[in-house]
Amino acid sequence: MIIFKKVADIQNYISIQKEKGKSVGFVPTMGALHEGHISLIEFGKTQSDFLICSIFVNPTQFNDKNDFEKYPITIDADIELLEKNHCDVLFLPSVAEMYPDGMELKTHYDLGNIENLLEGAFRPGHFQGVCQVVERLLRIVLPDKLFMGQKDYQQVMVLKKMIQLQNLDTELIMLPIKRSQAGLALSSRNARLNQENLDHALTIIRVLEKIKSNISKNTFETLKKDAEDTLLNNGFEKIDYIELAQQEDLQSLPIWIKDTPSIILIAAWIEGVRLIDNILID
Ligand code: AMP
Repeated sequence: MIIFKKVADIQNYISIQKEKGKSVGFVPTMGALHEGHISLIEFGKTQSDFLICSIFVNPTQFNDKNDFEKYPITIDADIELLEKNHCDVLFLPSVAEMYPDGMELKTHYDLGNIENLLEGAFRPGHFQGVCQVVERLLRIVLPDKLFMGQKDYQQVMVLKKMIQLQNLDTELIMLPIKRSQAGLALSSRNARLNQENLDHALTIIRVLEKIKSNISKNTFETLKKDAEDTLLNNGFEKIDYIELAQQEDLQSLPIWIKDTPSIILIAAWIEGVRLIDNILID
């Protein structure tokens, strides 16, 4: 695997590859890599001539300073895991490389209502920061295909919109959530939980599955109340949201509508760590 830290160097390398007619696949990450990230890389490799992974913990998308400061950094292990999984290129830029003109937003992305829902409501400014960093990365890497996880479903929707707004020539492909054998959605933030809390964290997928399997028989309101009680009785201290929404635009659905592809999304706190997860109802 080739590692680039400088924008000019990776751009030079990519333009040589593109001249040879090679297609570029891209998986942007914030590091602390796990099998979820690797699933994107593995699939991405089957769809492109070479695969670039980036690791950059983007300061502008953290609305919570504590979350930024505690974000796990495991760069040596990350490089080892990428090598083991035959990633072709790692882009590992510094903040100065990514933001040579400072970190203030130069573009306001007109994302519409999706920016204010769910994650947007609890993390003000988060999606503007995500768009800022991903646009910068896409303009450097010029990927044909961008691979992202359903784990961050709203982020996928937002970035599809950003790609359209900025007229970028990249196809975004969303891939399923990789889970532990017991069902916990893999996440870099899981590294901050002890074993007891990791066991408790499984409650999220249990309540998601329970809502999904009962959605045609009970009201969402009843199922949501039951899920909240279950989470709070199993180590969770706070619930930001449990929502039923349309897959298409994430508009909230107060009641389930048969034949409308929908999604149930949860964000909740355990031991000061905020976890998100979701499940599709097709
Ligand atoms: P992050 O490093 O958390 O910014 O995530 C980088 C990419 O990996 C994003 O597209 C995430 O949606 C994706 N991702 C994170 N966790 C998982 C998972 N458990 N399964 C599949 N993709 C994931």
